[in-house]
Amino acid sequence: MTAHKADADGAPEVPPRAEPGVAAVAFGEGPDAAGVPHDGERLGAAGVASGAGPDAATGTGPGPRFVVCAPLWPEAWAVRRGMGGRGEVRVSGYGPGRARRQAGRLRQDTFGALAVAGTGGGLTDELRPGDLVVATEVTDGTTTTACPSAPLLAGELRRAGLAVRTGPVVSVERLAGGRERARTVDPGALAVDLESAWLAAAAGERPVAVVRAISDTPQRPLLSPAALAGGLRALRSLRAAGPSLTRWAAAAGQRRVLLAGPRSFCAGVERAIEIVEKLLQQQGPPVYVRKQIVHNTHVVADLERRGAVFVDELDQVPDGACVVFSAHGVSPAVRADADRRGLATVDATCPLVSKVHVEARRFAAEGYLVALIGHAGHEEVEGTLGEAPEAMALVETAEDVTRLRPPDPAKVAYLMQTTLAVDEAEEVAGALRERFPAARAPGSDDICYATTNRQQAVRAVAAESDLVLVAGSANSSNSVRLVETAQRAGVPAYLIDGPADIELGWLAGISTVGLSAGASAPPAVVGEIIAALAGLGPVEVSERVTTTESIRFSLPKEVRSP
Ligand code: SF4
Repeated sequence: MTAHKADADGAPEVPPRAEPGVAAVAFGEGPDAAGVPHDGERLGAAGVASGAGPDAATGTGPGPRFVVCAPLWPEAWAVRRGMGGRGEVRVSGYGPGRARRQAGRLRQDTFGALAVAGTGGGLTDELRPGDLVVATEVTDGTTTTACPSAPLLAGELRRAGLAVRTGPVVSVERLAGGRERARTVDPGALAVDLESAWLAAAAGERPVAVVRAISDTPQRPLLSPAALAGGLRALRSLRAAGPSLTRWAAAAGQRRVLLAGPRSFCAGVERAIEIVEKLLQQQGPPVYVRKQIVHNTHVVADLERRGAVFVDELDQVPDGACVVFSAHGVSPAVRADADRRGLATVDATCPLVSKVHVEARRFAAEGYLVALIGHAGHEEVEGTLGEAPEAMALVETAEDVTRLRPPDPAKVAYLMQTTLAVDEAEEVAGALRERFPAARAPGSDDICYATTNRQQAVRAVAAESDLVLVAGSANSSNSVRLVETAQRAGVPAYLIDGPADIELGWLAGISTVGLSAGASAPPAVVGEIIAALAGLGPVEVSERVTTTESIRFSLPKEVRSP
C-alpha cells in the first residue's frame, strides 16, 4: 500500500492516475467489506416466469406474470381498482387456515412475481391508520421470508405521496387487541396480520412483496369507534398503492449488474471521516464540524448519530470548542475567524484541495489573474477563491472566458475544482488557452485521481449497460459528474442516494445495470442497491476494473495516535 503524504501548507505529491486508454478492463476479485458480492456471483431468485405481464398497457415492458393475494374482497377490490386491471388479484381468504390452503395452490402455480396486499394492525404508536408498511421480511415465528426489494417498492410508494414505513411484518394465528397485541409479537415488528407469512413463503425463489395498509394501531384498536374510519383509510391507501405494485412487478426479472471499479470512497474522504471518528473517540461528543464533512447524507447521518454536530458557520460553535474543517477546504478568512474566536481547529481538507489552494496563492503572489474553472456555490470553490479574492475569477463555461478582463493578458493562469468532469473542464481550459496563449496551467492536474479514475470506470461500464446508476448525494459534485459522464456515453443514468431512489420504471425491460458510486458514497450503499435489485429476480454481478487505487493520506497531528 502506498502512503501518500501531504503537508498542510505544501503541495502534496500527486498520486498516480490511470492512463486513459491503456487501463486494462478486468474482472475484480471477491466481495468487499460492504457486502458487495463476488464477481460473477448470482443473487436472488432462481427464475422468473414471464407471461402476460402487468404493464403492457404502459409500454414499459411486459414483466412477469403477476399475482396479488388480498385476503378479503374489499382489499382485493381496492388493489384491483388501483392496478387498473393489470395483474391477477385473488381473494386469498381471511386467516391462517385459508392462507395456508392458498399457499398450497400458489406453490403449484407458474406466476413470476407475487404480492400480498391487505390491511393490517400497526404495532407502534408512530403508525397511523392509512399508513403503509412494506415488509422487509415476514415471519410466522418459525419461517421467515425476506423481501429484499422492499426499499424499491417503498420508494415508489413514497413518490406517489403515500406514508410508508419499511420493517418486519408478523403473521399470527389469532389477533390480540391494542397494546396486548404489540406485547405478544417480536418487538422489532411494525405490523401484524393473519396471512402474509404463509402466502409469501409460497413465492419460493420468486420476487415477493408484502404491503399492509394500517387499519388500527395500539392507540386506535380494532374494536373502537375509530376503527371503521381507519379501515376506510387503509382501503384508500391500498388502492393508491396499486400503480406502484404494477410497476414493481414490471421491473421484476433477471439482470446483470456491472460494477465500475474504482467506485465509492477516495483517500480524501476516508481521511476526513477518520478525523471525525478519531475526535469522537478521543474527546467524546459533541464534535463540531463546519459544513458537511463530505457531501453524503449517509456519512453525515451516521456521524451525527455518533455525536458529530454539523454547523453552517463558526458562530454556531460554542466558545472554546474544537471544530473540524470539512474535506472541501476553507478560505483563510474562515481560519482567521476561528483564531479570533479562540476555537481549536482540526483541518480535514483533502490534501489535493490544499494543493490547489497553494497554487492559487503562488500564482496570485506572482501577479497573475487566476481563473478558477469550477461551479459557483460549491464549498471547495468558495474556499479556493478565498485564497486570493482580489486576484481570482470563477469561470464555469467557455463563454465566461470571453468576459475575463485581466490587467495583463500575458499574466493569466488557471486552476480547476478537483471534482470536475475531465472533458468539460478541458473545454474551458482550451478556451482560456485560445484567448490567452501564454496562460499558465497548474503544475499538475487539479482534477484529482479519484475523480478521473471513477469517470473512466463509469465510462467503461456505460459501454456495456442499458442503464447506469450512480450512488451519491445530490450535492456531491463528483457523483453528479459521474452521472453526466455516463449520459454523455449515450446511456440513461441516474443519481441515487440509495435503493429507495430507484424509480421502478427505469428498470422495466432493462437487462444490464451499470453501477458506480461517487467518492463520498459509502461502499455499503452499493451493497444495499445490489441486494434490493436481487429482490426483483436473479442478479449476476460482475466488475469492470479500469485501475486500482492504493492511495492513503496521513492524518493531521491532532488526531494521530501517540
Ligand atoms: S474527490 Fe479527490 S479532491 Fe475530493 S476528497 Fe477525494 S481525493 Fe480529495
